[in-house]
Amino acid sequence: MRQPLVAGNWKMHGSRAENANLVTALLDLLPAGKHAEILVCPPFPYLLETGRQLKDSGVQLGAQSVCAEAQGAFTGEVSAAMLKDVGCRYVLVGHSERRQLYGESDALVARKFVAAQSQGLVPVLCVGETLDEREGNQTLQVVSRQLEAVLSVSGVRSLARAVIAYEPVWAIGTGRTASGEQAQEVHAMIRARVAALDATIGGSVRILYGGSVKASNAQELFAMPDIDGGLVGGASLKADEFARICAGAG
Ligand code: PEP
Repeated sequence: MRQPLVAGNWKMHGSRAENANLVTALLDLLPAGKHAEILVCPPFPYLLETGRQLKDSGVQLGAQSVCAEAQGAFTGEVSAAMLKDVGCRYVLVGHSERRQLYGESDALVARKFVAAQSQGLVPVLCVGETLDEREGNQTLQVVSRQLEAVLSVSGVRSLARAVIAYEPVWAIGTGRTASGEQAQEVHAMIRARVAALDATIGGSVRILYGGSVKASNAQELFAMPDIDGGLVGGASLKADEFARICAGAG
C-alpha cells in the first residue's frame, strides 16, 4: 500500500510574515488522523524558519532545487548537505520551470538526483511533456527519456528512495488540468517501466500528478490507480484550498 503524498511547491512566493500565516492556517486546517503525507517546499531563504514552525507537526519540509555539486566555488547555488542541514527531507529535481527557464538538461537533473540522495534527501523527480510534444504524440517518448536519464545514472534501486512527479508542462500554472485518464495513462507507463526493471520498486514507488491541481479536481485525479498524490503549485499558497486537496488524498 503506497502512502499518498501531497507536496506544495511555493515557487518564488511569500515572505516571512506570509509564510508564517500560511503555515499557521494550514496546520489548523489539515485533517487529523489522515493517511497522506504532506510536504511543503518554500524558497531557500525561508526553509529554516518554516521548518521550525513545522516541527512536530508531521508536515515535511522540502526544497525546490539543489546543486549537482557537493561544495565549492558555485556562486548562488545551494548544496544537498546544506538542505539536509536546515531540516529538509525532500527536494524537487527537474521541475519544468528549471528545465525550461534555466536550461537544466536531463543529464544535469540526473546529477542533481544523485547529489540529493548522497545526503539522504528524497528527490522528487519531475517529468512531463510540453503541449507541442503532446500534440505530436511524443508524450510517452519524452517522459521515458527523462526517466531513463536518471535510471541510467542511478539504477532502478535508487527509486526506492525517491518520488516521481508527472507534470505535463501545458498544465502547470495554466488552469488546464490533465483528465484523470490522461494522467493515469502516463503514470501507468512510468510504473510499468520501473516494474519491468524491479517489480517490487515498480509497485512501491510513489508517482504524483502535478499541473493545476485544485480542490475541485484533486479527488478525480487521486482516485486513479497509479496516482499517489499531487505536486501542487498555485493552490498550495492558499491554506484552505491546499488542506482540502490534502484531505482528498486520503
Ligand atoms: C508546480 O509548480 O509543480 C505546479 C504543478 O504548479 P500549478 O499547480 O500551479 O500548476
